[in-house]
Amino acid sequence: MPISLIQPEFKVKIDYDKCHKCGRCVQQCGWGVYSFNERPIPDDSKCRACHRCVTYCPAHCINITKNDLAYRTNDHWDPALRKAVWRQAETGGVMLTGMGNDKPYQNIFDHLVLDACQVTNPSIDPLREPMELRTYLGRKPDNVDVEPDGQGGYRLKGGDKISKNIKLNTPIIFSPMSYGSVSLNVHKSLAMAAERLGILMNTGEGGLHADLYPYQDNVIVQVASGRFGVNPEYLNRGAAIEIKVGQGAKPGIGGHLPGEKINKEVSETRMIPQGSDAISPAPHHDIYSIEDLRQLIYSLKEASGYKTVGVKIAAVHNVAAIASGIVRAGADYVYLDGFRGGTGAAPQIIRDNVGIPIEIAIAVVDQRLRDEGIRNQASIIAAGSIRSSADLAKAIALGADAVGIGSTALMAMGCHLCQGCHTGSCSWGLTTQKPELTRRVDPEWGAERLTNLVNAWSHELQEILGALGVNAVESLRGSRERLRAIGLDQQTCDILGVKPAGR
Ligand code: SF4
Ligand code: SF4
Ligand code: SF4
Repeated sequence: MPISLIQPEFKVKIDYDKCHKCGRCVQQCGWGVYSFNERPIPDDSKCRACHRCVTYCPAHCINITKNDLAYRTNDHWDPALRKAVWRQAETGGVMLTGMGNDKPYQNIFDHLVLDACQVTNPSIDPLREPMELRTYLGRKPDNVDVEPDGQGGYRLKGGDKISKNIKLNTPIIFSPMSYGSVSLNVHKSLAMAAERLGILMNTGEGGLHADLYPYQDNVIVQVASGRFGVNPEYLNRGAAIEIKVGQGAKPGIGGHLPGEKINKEVSETRMIPQGSDAISPAPHHDIYSIEDLRQLIYSLKEASGYKTVGVKIAAVHNVAAIASGIVRAGADYVYLDGFRGGTGAAPQIIRDNVGIPIEIAIAVVDQRLRDEGIRNQASIIAAGSIRSSADLAKAIALGADAVGIGSTALMAMGCHLCQGCHTGSCSWGLTTQKPELTRRVDPEWGAERLTNLVNAWSHELQEILGALGVNAVESLRGSRERLRAIGLDQQTCDILGVKPAGR
């Protein structure tokens, strides 16, 4: 066998003086790094630095370090590019990866700061005064009026014609992740947490497993190009329906779930043969225009008794015009997925080089819809690496109604961003269908951690709103005057509609 030119990325170091020789590391590593011969023996070349063994070693005697192999300095050819050339020369194939774009593009959220009240407009103490985080997704009427209800009270004029909205107790939902790309226990955790929090989870493109039926009022069911698991019952079970056109991690290309991940239950949920590859085409073969999209939106509404129907797209260059067309086609929300969004599997070249940042996409879409006088006709959900309540608040100030969290939700359940999701061997039991790994996520444990995370962010968002002197998240939406930029060029500030700090 020819020797590989690529050296291991990480070193697994064990302090054998402390090691109990218990073998737990052998059992915990999903990637088979360890063999055992009187003591654990690691094969560095297989390690992905997922830290599962480190976390579970009772003697705390494992250390994973970066392999500090010195490459001859070359500012044009960083080591990752050199390794990619060697890997492709070995395999001749497209390099696959998981999770999100990790390239050092400027992170715009980190260059935006929020305002706070001082002397004249008092801030609000969220511990002592009510602070409203409830958010309603869907079309809002152009205006509302009331009329006497004939019983001494009032009712909304034409109330029966006002579109249904979906209530979120806090402006956060769990992003689409399909059963198949993640385990059923992960789906259960998300669904249970969504129900407890009064928010929504999203099936992704893999259908709805029967175990999630009890949580259907907190589930968005997705319709993607592969139509996996889509039938009238599926559409009617969801609280809302989402047409997936694009994904931030891999704009413009379809999906591919390898046959090894299509076990009996995944195959039944997706309505495809067991062991067959689940390939979703890049386009929907019935959508070639906004008119076609409109037809699908209204077909889904007809089939489901006029449920909320949203459209998910990747953030790309012309995103504002695309979103405008989507809203005019009748969508109740537009889900924007930025280029840092995660994925179960994507070609690395696409993940790292296609799409635009979510911050830019939110700002230009919100502005375009306002300029065209149709902002009230649809909600904006923003996703693609919302990492903290600060990102959440900044996304809302830029114009989003709510945010979606996917990678962050997986991190709440143990993910260490090792980018090995496409291998199906996730040591944390998240992006795998291997029974010995999936049982590592207890749905009750997962739901509790997700609930804690969203509750913590909600409290922090209340603190931010209080500092801004507003008592409802509604008052922050699209309020770019409450943001300032530090270290962004003028053109980016203009696109964002944000002034530089000091002005
Ligand atoms: S888990 Fe830790 S203590 Fe147990 S065999 Fe592995 S390195 Fe040794
Ligand atoms: S892949 Fe994860 S579990 Fe396996 S040796 Fe590396 S850090 Fe430990
Ligand atoms: S989900 Fe698992 S495989 Fe994917 S990045 Fe996280 S820890 Fe790694």
